[in-house]
Amino acid sequence: MARYTGPVCKLCRREGQKLFLKGMKCFTEKCPVERRPYAPGQHGQSTNRRKKTSEYAHQLREKQKVKRIYGVSERPFRNLFEKAAHQTGVTGENLLVALESRLDNIVYRMGFASSRKEARQVIRHRHVQVNGRTLDVASAQVKPGDEVRIAPKSKDILPVAVALASKSRPSSVGWLAVDEGSRTGRMVGRPTRADIPLAVQEQLIVELYSK
Ligand code: SF4
Repeated sequence: MARYTGPVCKLCRREGQKLFLKGMKCFTEKCPVERRPYAPGQHGQSTNRRKKTSEYAHQLREKQKVKRIYGVSERPFRNLFEKAAHQTGVTGENLLVALESRLDNIVYRMGFASSRKEARQVIRHRHVQVNGRTLDVASAQVKPGDEVRIAPKSKDILPVAVALASKSRPSSVGWLAVDEGSRTGRMVGRPTRADIPLAVQEQLIVELYSK
């Protein structure tokens, strides 16, 4: 499935809540979710007036929301779910941990990019190294103990400098140790559900895929 390249604010409006898809810009720009709190499109306002939502629609929206937050399309998302289902523990939590462990999310959480989308761009342009080697695969899974850093030659590129200078960048999380000066971070442990600041009901995704 092709990646969505349209206006990202529409995705937030479709989910009816702020998903912060523009990263730090969401804190400085006027947010369309607040200005037009109804679904996008010709029938957006009338759709919102419908009171009854089926269980399936509820589950589907929750899946779409998580996919949009992490910028993952259907096939890789489904693959992550299948892996999560085969691991021990709670499948929904395993899925969120796998999403949090993606390299693009780690670069974003470390504060080296303003959004996950920008993190993907920084990675694709080969500015990121994992354990000393350039890695340009945004979906790569980072493991505890791995060192993620901005390549020395790219230390001062504009997106990284802007992201680090931003006052509204993501607050540091306990499972990542970051040294901003050297643009280096380490994953010190796997996050738990309590470490993932997302207001989503991952159980609904499990129910959807289990049908
Ligand atoms: Fe979503 Fe940010 Fe756009 Fe608001 S400004 S609708 S939070 S992407």
